[in-house]
Amino acid sequence: MQDATRFWSKGLQELAPYVPGEQPQGGGWIKLNTNENPYPPSPAAIAAMHEALGSRMPMYPDPNCSDFRQAVAEREGLDVGQVFAGNGSDEVLYFAFLAFFRRGGELVFPDLTYSFYPVYARATGVPFRTVRLDDEFRIPMDEMVSTESGVIFPNPNAPTTIKVSLEAVERVLRQNPDSVVVVDEAYVDFGADTATPLIQKYPNLLVVQTLSKSRSLAGLRVGWAMGDRGLIDALERVRDSINSYTVDRVAQFGAAAAIRDESYFRETCAKVVATRDRFSKGLESLGFSLPPSSANFVFAAHPALSAAELLAALREHKILVRAFRGPRLERHARISIGTDEEMDAVLEALKHL
Ligand SMILES: *Cc1c(COP(=O)(O)O)cnc(C)c1O
Repeated sequence: MQDATRFWSKGLQELAPYVPGEQPQGGGWIKLNTNENPYPPSPAAIAAMHEALGSRMPMYPDPNCSDFRQAVAEREGLDVGQVFAGNGSDEVLYFAFLAFFRRGGELVFPDLTYSFYPVYARATGVPFRTVRLDDEFRIPMDEMVSTESGVIFPNPNAPTTIKVSLEAVERVLRQNPDSVVVVDEAYVDFGADTATPLIQKYPNLLVVQTLSKSRSLAGLRVGWAMGDRGLIDALERVRDSINSYTVDRVAQFGAAAAIRDESYFRETCAKVVATRDRFSKGLESLGFSLPPSSANFVFAAHPALSAAELLAALREHKILVRAFRGPRLERHARISIGTDEEMDAVLEALKHL
């Protein structure tokens, strides 16, 4: 065997890529490890995707994603020029790292948060500093200060499920007039307040959302950013330096229809929230402790079990959940919210531990 790793670019050897949650290929699993939505996407979105297949598939899609951006702009009361669409919010976040955070200062984010942030920082050559969550896993918002780079945090935070108030977000915007503040709202629809109303007032605010969680379309790969026209221009410049057609034709059709189906969206979010609150009580009655969740997952620990033991025991019941490595995370499992039946199966399996 020859070693072709010698052809790798400088720096690639040292990167530690993100490890996505397991996607088992066989059936029979209760899959609660990647925060997917247990309900199908909007029927209107499915119909729009079928329609897309009968449209001009030999042609490249609209590079500007005009119709989808129009749908988002109408829903949020923004101009189309204040919306950027990408191939999943992961891509949008990566573009934001390239566009805003390499200006000399240090990017700032919480020490326990979405594990893609340090990966993107290393991949894009962005120096960063982390801020320690307090003992209740809350973000000390007053310490989220960066000069000439940026601040990024999810609201609610992942994997800790805790939200921050709009007032706290606004404080961070005010204490960082020379840095872009990215609020990653992947889970906002399950119980936090979106920062989009602050966009008109703060040109340094970028709000990032996705169809993957609250609209049951993780398979479609569509995410978007909302902010000042100048920030959106920067993201377009980055995209058009890499690949102008990141969102395919089928995805653009489906995504626009999903955004316009507000009633279906509200209905499925309400179901997930009701199941989460019921499941959280069930966990507490079994001796687990968990912060109040504003997301579609819980972050739970039991005094008598390590996360590894919990994962192994649930695996025996063909239930997949997620745990993380690192200080303060040894006892915590992240359990996505599935259907009522799925969560009952989890509680039943835990009772026998
Ligand atoms: C799931 C998730 C994303 C990525 O979502 P995609 O749109 O599927 O790429 C971004 N941020 C956080 C915090 C997430 O949990």
